[in-house]
Amino acid sequence: MPHRSQAVRKVCEGAEGSPEVYPLSATFSFFLHIVYLKIAFYANQFTMFSMISKRNFLIDSHSHVQFPAYDTDRSEVIQRAKEANVKMIAVGTQFSTSEAGIALARAYPEDIWATVGYHPNHLSENWHHDKKEQQKAAPEKFDIEKLRELARDPKVVAIGECGLDYYRLVEGEKLKVKSLQIEVFFQQAELARELNKALMIHCRPSKGTDDAYEDLLKTISNDQFPIPKIVHFYVGGPAITKRLVEAGFYFTFGGVITFARDYDESLSIIPLDRILLETDCPYVAPHSKRGKRNEPAFIAETAQKLAEIKNVSFEKLIVQAEQNAVSFFKI
Ligand SMILES: [Zn+2]
Repeated sequence: MPHRSQAVRKVCEGAEGSPEVYPLSATFSFFLHIVYLKIAFYANQFTMFSMISKRNFLIDSHSHVQFPAYDTDRSEVIQRAKEANVKMIAVGTQFSTSEAGIALARAYPEDIWATVGYHPNHLSENWHHDKKEQQKAAPEKFDIEKLRELARDPKVVAIGECGLDYYRLVEGEKLKVKSLQIEVFFQQAELARELNKALMIHCRPSKGTDDAYEDLLKTISNDQFPIPKIVHFYVGGPAITKRLVEAGFYFTFGGVITFARDYDESLSIIPLDRILLETDCPYVAPHSKRGKRNEPAFIAETAQKLAEIKNVSFEKLIVQAEQNAVSFFKI
């Protein structure tokens, strides 16, 4: 046996019977073990897929499938989501993307719903042009009346994304921009309350702080705004998380939880019935697709990681996530 390894030889020497028989059986059992692992892996994948495809669907609660990032292959992206049994909310960030989200929701009434809103990043004079969001740099003035008209559409399930973004504020205009953001956010929260729709909140604190979440709690209390409120792409620490949970907020988590462990502690504090899944596509793809353009079909990987972190079965997780999204958006 010229290729017999040290380990196999050790097994043979310690075993009874013919040394010529046992090396073969050790190799064979090793081979069987590999086959077993492969079967177990594919069975797990199959079970995961069939659970989503036969009984449940996942809802990508925060996607931007209407963005120009999908202009060349949007129908294929939506088809891949359908095949993976993933439905989605197309989240607006200003008038043009809100209008485009509604058009898409009308084109795919079984699979897509829309939100309309004005993202806080559009308020700064140092507004950053994101080519994934729009082809041409087109700053836009906030106009609550135009948003109200769009928001009345029955395919609109929430107002937002709107909120507070203190991450990119430029020195010298901080105070001015913060108060403007709070005012514009408050008007959109009022619109959600008026139309009895959910509120999709973008809230990003300045580095190393929870300042934007503190201001969020001061701006909209549960008593004043008894509507479903969700903080998307949540990054808050444990202390502020407890306060937001007590105040009745919901939270979305996306692909980032598949490769960064900074969210695990806060995730352990939030009850499972307050967590929804998102991709925030085209941004932040999950671990196995990292660096690529994200899309709704990739959401199962995030769901699987969330099940692991919350120590529940994948089946339980997807059933709960579906229930949460259906009741939150009333879809
Ligand atoms: Zn977004």
